[in-house]
Amino acid sequence: MIAVAPDTDAGAKTAARGEVITRPAVVAWLRAFAAVVARDRELLTELDAAIGDADHGINMDRGMQAVLVKLDELGEPADGSVGALLKAVGMTLVSSVGGAAGPLYGTLFLQMGSAAGQASELTLAEWASAVAAGVAGAQARGQAELQDKTMIDALLPAVAALRAGAASGLSLAAALGRSAEAARQGMKATVPLVARKGRASYLGQRSAGHQDPGATSSWLLLETAAISLSAGTVP
Ligand SMILES: [Mg+2]
Repeated sequence: MIAVAPDTDAGAKTAARGEVITRPAVVAWLRAFAAVVARDRELLTELDAAIGDADHGINMDRGMQAVLVKLDELGEPADGSVGALLKAVGMTLVSSVGGAAGPLYGTLFLQMGSAAGQASELTLAEWASAVAAGVAGAQARGQAELQDKTMIDALLPAVAALRAGAASGLSLAAALGRSAEAARQGMKATVPLVARKGRASYLGQRSAGHQDPGATSSWLLLETAAISLSAGTVP
């Protein structure tokens, strides 16, 4: 007979069911991302100053500060769904962030929320599917392909790593870590590229030699996911 943990012990319940991403873990991820964006606001703005209009750090920080306010409003409902949370984040970003980042990140979270549905916690495979849906939404919205020197260059490799991790039975922490590393490599690979989408594409060849700001904020999103989302689960 399996020992059943007391109902009040959320951590033990999680352990008994295996590894899942809970709504509180997603909230912790969003709060961590907001903190990292605030910390790296100048870096993101400097990257955008080189090949864009120098507003990416300002825009992302404004958006994530608005998300923090929204998270406080939403609180921690006992039966809150991950999907509803992610959709609220997407709506907040769409309505509070200017430039391309608002619609693109907003669409990412909205589509991710639709895919996550009503569940209050997701397995790695379910999480990978939700992230894939979000990235597909952002890609469709921006009409960007790999090597266009955009956020997609960090996000698509991260999705592939998440899916591969889920398919091969990696632990949550290992799969999230590999997706963050794939995003980092994708971000680094934007440096020599000539931009084919967004404001940077107006620069033509002069856009080469600079790291894409959108790919950089996307790497930060995946890096904070790797740190935040496996907390509270069994390694
Ligand atoms: Mg910009």
